[in-house]
Formats: sequence, C-alpha cells, structure tokens
Amino acid sequence: MTHVFNTQPPGRVLVSAEGIGKSFPSTDGGGLRVLDGVNLTIREGEVVALLGRSGSGKSTLLRVLAGLIPPSHGDVRYRGVPLAEANPAVAMVFQSFALMPWLTVLENVELGLRASGVARAERTSRALAAIDAIGLDGFEAAYPRELSGGMAQRVGFARAFVQRPDLLLMDEPFSALDVLTGENLRGELMAVWGERELAGQSICIVTHSIEEAVQLADRVLVLGGSPGTIQAEIPIHIPRPRDKRSPTFEAAVD
Ligand code: ADP
Ligand code: MG
Repeated sequence: MTHVFNTQPPGRVLVSAEGIGKSFPSTDGGGLRVLDGVNLTIREGEVVALLGRSGSGKSTLLRVLAGLIPPSHGDVRYRGVPLAEANPAVAMVFQSFALMPWLTVLENVELGLRASGVARAERTSRALAAIDAIGLDGFEAAYPRELSGGMAQRVGFARAFVQRPDLLLMDEPFSALDVLTGENLRGELMAVWGERELAGQSICIVTHSIEEAVQLADRVLVLGGSPGTIQAEIPIHIPRPRDKRSPTFEAAVD
C-alpha cells in the first residue's frame, strides 16, 4: 500500500512573526494584553489553521500579520524583510463578508485589484474568472443585498483570490453561515484550491472548528492562554484535492 502524505518539500519562509505582543488600551486606564510572545512562521505554499476559543486573540493576530494594526512588541517579516518595508500582497476574507453594498458583485471583486493598479481590461477579465471559479457565474451584476450569506461569502473569496496574494488570510470565513452552507462552501473551496490558481498559495485560516482545521490545513496552531500565545503546533498528514499537482501525490496515485 502506498501512503499518500501531503509532505511537499518545505517552501521558503514567507512570513515570520517573532515575539509578537499586543495590548489594547482599556477603560480602567491599564491595558488589555491580548497577545504575548507569539512566534510563528508560514512557508510558501503552506496552509496553516489558527485555532483557539473566542476572545483568544485570533483576529488580532491576523490583523497584525496583515499589517492592519501594529504589534505592541515583536516584529513581522515577509521573506526576511520587515513588514513596513516589504509591502507584501496580503488579502483577507472576513467573517462578516465586508462587501461594499453600493457596488455590484463584479465591482466588489474588481475592487481588490484597483489599489494595485491593474489596468481596467485585465481587472475585469480576472474578476470574471474569479467569479466563475467560485460558482457565481451569472451574478456579476447583482448587489450584495440580493445575495444569500453563502453567495456573499463567495464574493468575499473571489475578491481575495483575484488579487493572487502572497498570503491569503481568512478569519472564520464560514462561521456566519448556516452549517450546511458552510460545509458546502468549504468543500468547494478545497476543490478550487486543487484546481485553480490557489494551488501553491500560502494560506492562514482562523477557525474554532477542529474539524475544519484538520480538513484544510497542513499544520494547526493553537492559540490560547491569557494573554494569548501559541500553545501547540500540530502537523497534519492527510491527502487533499489540492495535492493533485504535487509530484508526490501523482507518483503515489499512478
Ligand atoms: P478572537 O478573534 O480569537 O475571538 P480577538 O482578537 O477578536 O479574539 O479579540 C481578543 C481580545 O481583544 C478580546 O478580549 C477583544 O475584546 C479584544 N480586542 C480586540 N480588538 C480590540 C480593540 N480594537 N480594542 C480593544 N480591545 C480589543
Ligand atoms: Mg475573531
């Protein structure tokens, strides 16, 4: 029997975070320490799940990795370069979709490309391809209010995918959806990972579902404690659709 593990050769380190601490000002004048001494690395092509209970600082850590908020301590580097100078391409999928209600599906997806200065024609063709890939063909002209939650989050995925970011951050992307819709979308996402341009992309997905973490990730990081820190790191060895392109997978199936 051939064992099929998705042990791809480790890529280069894409992101490294060292000694990350984060405090927020609190009403009593002291500080609320949310993160302390968080160390992590994400390699090129790796899918990492960040697991932890509500309030453990998962969203805060993602925001720090994305450069949306500065850490109170420690530093984040992309390919060895400090975040502020590296200007990395990072896209995010939010729990609450965060679509612009006054823009159509196509315009929302294209929005992800405007800031990066992609020319209009290419913007449109890439956005249409991303919309098609995530199963929203025919809804290009619809507005967010006309979409179900599952469809709205598809737009959220398309808007992130279209950017072809170095790092894709997803903050509980299925938790605002009902269970069945979430599971369907998760399954489709895995297929998209296997077949489209997402293969080989670095992804960090926040979840509080152990099942989701194990299904999607190569490695699970557990954030916990008060203030939060990485308490465990678990490698996962399960073959997945997205491994279709990996030579080890093909060799094992042949
Ligand atoms: P998680 O995503 O794991 O549920 P969060 O990172 O959202 O956790 O929040 C961790 C803690 O930090 C919570 O106690 C939350 O109230 C607090 N927090 C998050 N963002 C802010 C902020 N901007 N100002 C003050 N407190 C915050
Ligand atoms: Mg959160």
